[in-house]
Amino acid sequence: MVNVSHPVTLIPGDGIGPEVADATVRAVNATGVSIDWQRADLNASIITKAGHVLPPHVIESIERTHVGLKGPVTTPIGGGFTSVNVALRKQFDLYANVRPVHSLPGLKTRFTDVTIDMVIFRENTEDLYSGLEHEVVKDVVTSLKVITRTASIRIAEYAFDFAKKSGRKKVTAIHKANIMKLADGLFLRCCREVAARFSEIEYKELIVDNASMQLVIRPETFDILLLPNLYGDIVSDLAAGLVGGLGVVPGANMGDQAAVFEAVHGSAPDIAGKGMANPTALMLSAVLMLLHLGEHDAARRLRAAIERTYAEPSRLTPDVGGLGSTRDFTDAVIANLG
Ligand code: NAD
Repeated sequence: MVNVSHPVTLIPGDGIGPEVADATVRAVNATGVSIDWQRADLNASIITKAGHVLPPHVIESIERTHVGLKGPVTTPIGGGFTSVNVALRKQFDLYANVRPVHSLPGLKTRFTDVTIDMVIFRENTEDLYSGLEHEVVKDVVTSLKVITRTASIRIAEYAFDFAKKSGRKKVTAIHKANIMKLADGLFLRCCREVAARFSEIEYKELIVDNASMQLVIRPETFDILLLPNLYGDIVSDLAAGLVGGLGVVPGANMGDQAAVFEAVHGSAPDIAGKGMANPTALMLSAVLMLLHLGEHDAARRLRAAIERTYAEPSRLTPDVGGLGSTRDFTDAVIANLG
């Protein structure tokens, strides 16, 4: 059998990014899958020097490989350069942000008594992330929320297709169309239109504030969540909190020409460089990447090894109640690979 080497752009990012990226590369390589890692560094000083949030070496690499594994990159707050992540999603039209949120067996959370198994589909290219802000007169600012039929139909189709292929039963569209009647109203009309084509899948709608409460009081009732960009961003972190926090939830940004896999969490400046970052989220993102590359056996083994490691509390990192370091956890995952 020919052993195919998959080219993948590795963007370690900054803050805890390089620590969790190194750990993930070690774990993926230990599965025996051949990956041709093409490293593209990206951080504030590279961005400032290049004068662009997406310097040519990053764009050219993803154009070649079509697949990226990315650590977080710090975005300055209230000024400075714009978000690398938003730029990447726009550049490669990575319109579907997919975040599976599952309880990890063995991990103690406030919700240990219920099984949480949902997948969040967040529209990734528009809404308030269009970056169209304007100071009308001094101290009066508008920020444009852009919702289009094309993008809304596309994310709804992506979510329903996934539901059908993976045998899931219910899609819940989340909105605030009672207030933003035009913008969220259009999003909702598109969701309904697509839902009508998938009669075998139950379709529900929830207003975002109510959805947030329902997620906390009965998270086990959610299956697939379908949201515009901003609500998707906020609800993803809320959902991460239900299963153990940002350290354990993976993500994928999917487009027709490229896919970039990254954790939900940011660069965690409070713990960067201390060797205590939890690499689970990026490792689970790499599991999604392996599935995308058709490496199903390696994906299954890596996921199983991570789950087995959660049965050994001493090897876990402090954010999930352990005493271990990033390296201890990674060594345990590699030792647990069947
Ligand atoms: P954050 O996700 O970096 O951190 C929030 C909290 O979660 C912190 O207490 C942190 O220590 C903890 N945490 C996050 N990831 C962890 C991990 N893997 N292991 C253990 N603990 C972890 O969110 P923030 O502080 O709001 O953002 C920091 C920076 O990251 C900002 O500049 C933000 O713009 C950027 N950011 C980048 C991305 C990305 O590149 N995809 C995503 C979100 C935020």
